[in-house]
Amino acid sequence: MKSPRHMRIIEIDITNACDKRCSNCTRLCGHQKKPFFMDFETFKRAVDSLDGYQGIRSIMGGEPTLHPEFERFARYLGSKFPERDNPYIYPQKDFIRQVHRVELDNFEMINDGVERIDIVGAGMFSNMGATYKKHYETITDVMPFQGLNDHLNPIYHQTALITRKELGIPNDEWVKIRDKCWLQNEWSAGITPKGAFFCEVAGVLDMLLDGPGGWPIEPGWWKRTPEEFGDQLHWCELCGFALETFTRDSAEEVDDMSPEWYERLKKLKSPKLASGRYNVVKIDDGKIAEESKQENRHFSAAMPYIEHYEDRFNALNSVLFTHVFEKATLDEGDGFGVELNKVIGRAEDWVVVTAKGVELADDFDEQVGAYVLNPGTLHFIDLSKSDDTRFVKNADKLDYGYAALFSKNAISLREFGFDRIAHIKTFTELVEAWQPKKIVELSSKFDEPQRRLNICKGKKYAIWGTGSAGAAAVDAIQKGGGEVVFAVDKSEARHGCDFYGVTIAKPDTLIEHVNEFDVMIAANYTRFPEIREEALKLGIPREKIQYINSLSE
Ligand code: SF4
Ligand code: SF4
Repeated sequence: MKSPRHMRIIEIDITNACDKRCSNCTRLCGHQKKPFFMDFETFKRAVDSLDGYQGIRSIMGGEPTLHPEFERFARYLGSKFPERDNPYIYPQKDFIRQVHRVELDNFEMINDGVERIDIVGAGMFSNMGATYKKHYETITDVMPFQGLNDHLNPIYHQTALITRKELGIPNDEWVKIRDKCWLQNEWSAGITPKGAFFCEVAGVLDMLLDGPGGWPIEPGWWKRTPEEFGDQLHWCELCGFALETFTRDSAEEVDDMSPEWYERLKKLKSPKLASGRYNVVKIDDGKIAEESKQENRHFSAAMPYIEHYEDRFNALNSVLFTHVFEKATLDEGDGFGVELNKVIGRAEDWVVVTAKGVELADDFDEQVGAYVLNPGTLHFIDLSKSDDTRFVKNADKLDYGYAALFSKNAISLREFGFDRIAHIKTFTELVEAWQPKKIVELSSKFDEPQRRLNICKGKKYAIWGTGSAGAAAVDAIQKGGGEVVFAVDKSEARHGCDFYGVTIAKPDTLIEHVNEFDVMIAANYTRFPEIREEALKLGIPREKIQYINSLSE
């Protein structure tokens, strides 16, 4: 067992409403007759209670974006941390890799008695449905960590609904098994409307079974050590996560449960039980019968429940892309704002307005539809300043004209007010109504930050890692007109060998030459955080360090 203090995430469960019905959901979604929605005062207390905690303070569901006050909650959580760069202002072609990149970029060395690398900041979990899309602007404004999974690719969940007593595990053995519970050791403590818990699942069980509630949500509750978990450990008696059981693909929407749990859920009049989507396992002589097991995957913290990070997102079937645009041509002058409001009113979500004579590219919808767009961003082109024809096909023939692409749900519009929009007379005034940092040129600069991560011509690069990722880095540097000046590797066997014209050295040597390179690439696809921390310890400035994913567009 782990003290919440040393966990990488502490969850605040703001609702257990969810629009999915995954098999074996940890939140036991579908078994409650009515979902709960945390009130703002409790949420505020929960967030404030975590002051000083070094990790991710995360909003969790169910699907948290279904909470009617999600935006208010997320903004309050975000207000606890300094503002960070938000690359999601730009359209994202490779959305899920950007999510991963932002996560990696925010890793830092934490020492709260235990040394580890993680994020100190706001986070959330979501299944990326329609309400996630609706709140995308707020989420990307404040969350450096997003635990996303659309559950459209196969992923495997273990059930909570099996008890150790039914498997005949004696007390002395049980305590050892319980204390090694992978979920408590690798995941989170939790806060529900009924208090704070040493383990997120204990909080879920307390909600479902109308338990006594958790510890008071007060500053520092998370500093408790396992010796202080006390009565809350009783919830483990009803929980199957520490046990060797099995998993099921979440898409089957079936919950596995033991006979004891079946009886409990029947008494609770569980809607999921009523829907028939359950499997009561047979237990013979303390063993789950083979025919009752759906998959026999061993489940452990060391083995991610999904093989590739990218599998969390099924772009082909995602609702995050936009394919419908309300288009109109507007004349500047009196009545411009009134007409603009009419277009906004007609739009389902996204609006494209152009000045007279401006012709959009024939493949405009197709091009824009390939990106996840931020509803907070105004994509805008002023043809007196640009003749870029990527989205406006006659941009090079016009000296004057505008095109704007935006969502009617943008916070800039809401804050400015639609009544004030009615009074504007020009495209320039529309731009002036927008939060300046959320304006992106509707041109070849559309997806700029992804390009900006590419190699800079004339810059000098050091590469840490001389395997395949290092080779990919050299390739990108050479193509981009940069120069590889150092290559280092921890593997002694490689020291002194040639690596694309430079001699591989020990990592420590980098600091002696720190002024001779502009950028250090951590060239390992999975060990970026470790390399970065070692580089930081050597004294290499943070701003000089990039990682290989940044190069592989
Ligand atoms: S999306 Fe998450 S919270 Fe919703 S049912 Fe699936 S596992 Fe549970
Ligand atoms: S057995 Fe269940 S309740 Fe106990 S620590 Fe593990 S996940 Fe939490």
